[in-house]
Amino acid sequence: MKQLKLESEIKIADHVGELNEQDSQLLAAAKEAAKGAYAPYSHFKVGAAVLLQNGVTVIGSNQENAAYPVTICGERNAIFSASAQYPDTPILAVAITIISKNKDISRPVPPCGSCRQVIYETEARHQQDVRIILQGDTGEIYLINSVKDIFPLLFDSSYL
Ligand SMILES: [Zn+2]
Repeated sequence: MKQLKLESEIKIADHVGELNEQDSQLLAAAKEAAKGAYAPYSHFKVGAAVLLQNGVTVIGSNQENAAYPVTICGERNAIFSASAQYPDTPILAVAITIISKNKDISRPVPPCGSCRQVIYETEARHQQDVRIILQGDTGEIYLINSVKDIFPLLFDSSYL
């Protein structure tokens, strides 16, 4: 029997000081965006900031609802908003971070499966990898060159 081994590459910064100016600013924008989250049920505020090829930054945050399934994640909120405002402009990077009221999260919080699927669709749409920058409330920062590194065996339009 054959075996398929999948590899991922994630760079890890111990603190914001190790980031370049652009990544540092994008992460700061995401942290600020988290303050705008509407999370009365989970108390888990997610902030995201998307950097577009034209230099514009678009933010998003999670927006919850008493009907839980209609909740939208912060990163999808930012990406869909960016896509609605600048449909032809590739997205270069997305920073995602959180403010948790339940407990301090000192490790990066990865995007959920739905958001990974959306980030991949964004990459495919514009033929442009989207760098992902992740941090929790505090702690180390993950730098990922493409969602493909954290979303192997993904589903895409080639199956349709
Ligand atoms: Zn999500």
